[in-house]
Amino acid sequence: DLEEFSKYMIMKNRTARKSKKLLSVELEHNSTQVTQLEFDKSILTTKLETAEKQLQTLQESAAERQRLLQSERRAHEDVVDDIQRKFKRQEEQLVDEQRALKKSISALQDSLESTQARLKATKEESMRLENTVSKQASDQLELESGSRTLKAKAERLEDILSEREIHIAELEEALASRNCDVSELEAKLRTEETTRRRLHNTVQELKGNIRVFCRVRPLVGEEKAMAGALPLSFPECEEKNEIELSQSSENALGKTTARAFPFKFDRVFAPDSTQDLVFDEVSQLIQSALDGYPVCIFAYGQTGSGKTHTMQGPDAITSARPERKILGIIPRAVQQIYDNTSKLAERGWEYTLEGQFLEIYNETLQDLLVPAGHSAQQGGDRQARLEIYQDSEGHTRVKNITTVAVDSAERVHWLLARAAENRTVAATNCNERSSRSHSVFTLYLRGKNMLTGESSSGVLNLIDLAGSERLSSSGSKGDRLKETQAINKSLSSLGDVIAALAKGSRHVPYRNSKLTHLLQESLGGGNSKTLMFVCVNPSPASAQESLCSLQFATKVNSCQIGTAKRQAAA
Ligand code: ADP
Ligand code: MG
Repeated sequence: DLEEFSKYMIMKNRTARKSKKLLSVELEHNSTQVTQLEFDKSILTTKLETAEKQLQTLQESAAERQRLLQSERRAHEDVVDDIQRKFKRQEEQLVDEQRALKKSISALQDSLESTQARLKATKEESMRLENTVSKQASDQLELESGSRTLKAKAERLEDILSEREIHIAELEEALASRNCDVSELEAKLRTEETTRRRLHNTVQELKGNIRVFCRVRPLVGEEKAMAGALPLSFPECEEKNEIELSQSSENALGKTTARAFPFKFDRVFAPDSTQDLVFDEVSQLIQSALDGYPVCIFAYGQTGSGKTHTMQGPDAITSARPERKILGIIPRAVQQIYDNTSKLAERGWEYTLEGQFLEIYNETLQDLLVPAGHSAQQGGDRQARLEIYQDSEGHTRVKNITTVAVDSAERVHWLLARAAENRTVAATNCNERSSRSHSVFTLYLRGKNMLTGESSSGVLNLIDLAGSERLSSSGSKGDRLKETQAINKSLSSLGDVIAALAKGSRHVPYRNSKLTHLLQESLGGGNSKTLMFVCVNPSPASAQESLCSLQFATKVNSCQIGTAKRQAAA
């Protein structure tokens, strides 16, 4: 066995060796294979890495593409949206257009129908017209013959027209020569204005530079019922310049005798005389003032005799444009001056008018035109400031007085109203006060002729004197006595001045009263004109005062006669 075993072993060993050999070969082969495989593996790994890298790159680029794709898709979507919107809009437009077209088609159809109807009517009309035309053709023939007749007529008319044209040319020539005449006449008129002024003045001088008019007012209010037989009568005479006052008086034996006092003035105005009539007689003197002469118009008479009525008009003219017929001399004079200055303007005259209005009370001057607001308390001041003086040209003027440019005829109403207002402020009893003072309205009229170089400077004084009634000085006391003395003094010195002027005295006592001092220039000088209205109350109760007034006026009037005679003799 052992040998068997050993033999087996040796056999086995040999097989083992053989298998070992086989196995190592196999191992060798395998390791070669492993090496090969490892090599392959490294190649594959490398390849794998590359492939992975490539894969990553590809993935990145794929992502990039994806992004691009998305943004492109979005862009495309926008574009598509846009296109869709546009499309939709176009569709809507198209629908609208279609609707409009449908409408216009139906309108066209309508108009087609109406046109067709019209066409039909026109066809009918044209047929009618054709008929008419054929009728008119026959008419035309008639008309043509008529027109031939008319043409002939027109030719005749043209002949007449050309004749007339020749006539017009002749007339135009004549007109041109007349125009030359007119300008010559205008120049002549200007010289004649100068002549008129001279002649007007001569006439006024012949009438007397001092004139006296007597005005008897009508009975007013209660007087009508109370008055018995009136003491005044107006003898019939052509000149209307006589008045008679009859007064009955008892003599010592108790016998009543009637005495008649006849008077004669330049003019006597009976109670029925209107403001118009009175002014007619005054207007010539106003003209003289405008021509450059100093003029004074006085109203003299007892209180209540109609002085203010004559100078201004009824007491209370409150409206800015009062009725003309009631107006007195002051507003009428201003109106006349206005009317005349505008006429004279055509002849080259230009005027400036300046007014002042003052009151002389107890021999002191008071401005009646001080502006509203200068109250009575300042009154004392105002009196002290007013002063009569001679200006550089020798004219008598009042220092510090308010002067007002009278630049329209209506201005005078304003001026009179202000004066009335100032009087009310100055006195508790306005009527009483105004009858105790003289009021002097003065208008300075300065004119210059631009064409002839002439100039003129006139003054118009319109004076409402204080009441002339004799107040017995013996019975009066205090203020009343002073007033009475002042009035008596100024009225008598007015009489004295007029008398001295008439006599041609070398000394004229102007300085004896404020009134005559103020009016010195207007009363003096050879060319001045003075008119005195003697106002008379007709009632029997006033007979004595009326007599005094008429006697005073006669004294003044006799001066006038003297002047007139002197003028006439010269
Ligand atoms: P005097 O100013 O002289 O005191 P007035 O002018 O105030 O007088 O007149 C006294 C009254 O008589 C007034 O009521 C006035 O209206 C009236 N009167 C004066 N004259 C006339 C007249 N001619 N016509 C009508 N009434 C007149
Ligand atoms: Mg009066």
